[in-house]
Amino acid sequence: MFYGFSHTEIWLIGTLLFILRYVLVAGVFFYLFYVLKKTRFSKFKIQEHFPLKKQIKREVLYSLLTFLIYGSSLLLFVFWVENGYTKSYNNLQEYGLAYFVASILLMVFIHDTYFYWTHRLIHHSKFFKHIHKVHHSFTSPTPWAAFAFHPWEALISLGFIPIILFVIPHHQWALVVFITFLTLYNVLIHLGFSIPKLQKMKLFNTPDAHDYHHLKSKKNYGLYFTFWDRLMGTYQGA
Ligand SMILES: [Zn+2]
Ligand SMILES: [Zn+2]
Repeated sequence: MFYGFSHTEIWLIGTLLFILRYVLVAGVFFYLFYVLKKTRFSKFKIQEHFPLKKQIKREVLYSLLTFLIYGSSLLLFVFWVENGYTKSYNNLQEYGLAYFVASILLMVFIHDTYFYWTHRLIHHSKFFKHIHKVHHSFTSPTPWAAFAFHPWEALISLGFIPIILFVIPHHQWALVVFITFLTLYNVLIHLGFSIPKLQKMKLFNTPDAHDYHHLKSKKNYGLYFTFWDRLMGTYQGA
């Protein structure tokens, strides 16, 4: 039992919550940009054509598979927490509010670094077709493609979680806020529409830059930020 839930319940509730968060976030962006304001925002569409239903169906199916893997992985994380292997804490006062916020920022930075380097690795010709080709089959992604991974890529994408759990003292709610932000930002860069205000903030990754990555590969490997790309010479302004 964990917080009064059996392991089966944790698996089921966890998986459903992952799916619910994805459906809510991707659904709101999709409805706004591809349905409600489609005509008004059309001048911001990065690639001219709109996706076929067949593409969206594939994006959603692969994402559901990813959440099945994420939900199942929760059981391992719960095992670590239950056995006191992690640095999680319950009392917010223990580290204070400033640390709570700093820990979330640190998680974002660690994830961005992990994402950049593993992303470059799975673009290597030895791994690409077995792991990352599925995600790149969406050359003009929509918000539904944010988690459309091959199962191997879904597993790799979880690899930074143990770093956070074992190394950084973290409040459970800091993890929830971080994962929600991750979902939001990942959906945002798959939007398929330019966000001019974000475009001006040079530090942040944009839908344009990630769209360019889906189309051409080999540039713009980052998730939230552009500094790893700028530092390593893989940045391509789009
Ligand atoms: Zn992508
Ligand atoms: Zn890629």
